[in-house]
Amino acid sequence: MANGELIVITGPSGVGKGTLVKLLLAHHPELSVSTSATTRAPREGEVEGKDYYFLSSEEFETMIENGEFLEWAKYTGNYYGTPKKAVEEQLQAGKKVILEIEVVGARKVQESFPEATRIFILPPSLPVLEQRLEKRGKDDPKAIEQRLAEAKTEIAAAEEFDYAIVNDDIDRSLIELEKIIFQ
Ligand code: 5GP
Repeated sequence: MANGELIVITGPSGVGKGTLVKLLLAHHPELSVSTSATTRAPREGEVEGKDYYFLSSEEFETMIENGEFLEWAKYTGNYYGTPKKAVEEQLQAGKKVILEIEVVGARKVQESFPEATRIFILPPSLPVLEQRLEKRGKDDPKAIEQRLAEAKTEIAAAEEFDYAIVNDDIDRSLIELEKIIFQ
């Protein structure tokens, strides 16, 4: 039986989940963060095996068939998923393991890990989310439009989660996150 703890951090794209997780890890290197697999193309500077495992659709579908994902989802036309084995190993080693994933996948975690702590990060408003997606410059206008459309449905699901943090100030959000994780 695993004796670590699974912590799911979810919320719309651009809300600052990635930044929060990076800060969290910088302050608490004993935490473990799962590396996801995806079929989306690597962005400039992204490193295979560190940011993601970049797979073809065929490779991803084979992993689905083999039951190798703890959860997976299709998001704006690409697959994203959490490889199960690495997470289980870290949990067995007693670690707190962080998943930074979108909302459909976060829901699925509930089925296999009902004891997981699930945290939803909210933007202060949709216009602020849009500004952040534009400002970070990672996605083209079409992708931003798709991500914003997803965000509307995603935000409506916030109530289903154990905790919600409105990310209007990154330092304050980090403190809230630390309180939840280390309480
Ligand atoms: P991006 O393309 O910006 O890296 O990620 C798009 C969305 O997919 C983000 O909300 C991110 O948190 C989510 N995501 C990243 N990895 C996974 C994963 O393993 N599973 C799921 N369900 N979502 C993921």
